[in-house]
Amino acid sequence: MKEITDKMNAIELQTRELLEKAQILENQKVLMTTLMECSQFDHTWEIGNITSTLTEIHQIDVYCTRCGSTANFPAQEYHRERGHLVESRPIPIFSRTEQRLDKLVGEEE
Ligand SMILES: [Zn+2]
Repeated sequence: MKEITDKMNAIELQTRELLEKAQILENQKVLMTTLMECSQFDHTWEIGNITSTLTEIHQIDVYCTRCGSTANFPAQEYHRERGHLVESRPIPIFSRTEQRLDKLVGEEE
């Protein structure tokens, strides 16, 4: 009796593993299908989160509504500034009169 129970447990375990694998493959198939569409029609970018101060934008996150790909700008880059490691350069924001806001209102710290 114990042998049968052990075998049944082993089969159940294997079934669960196969179902998990099937789910992973199904997800990959969906991803590949949407990527194929994006390769034909280009990504459909939407702007996600924007990190900014009053005078400059530090990061813009975009994502594709079709395939779910993501990108952010500026890409995470680091450069040295006065001996310190500083994360990428912010994008200056301009007023409607095309003046840099940091020149208009003073730089923020
Ligand atoms: Zn896409």
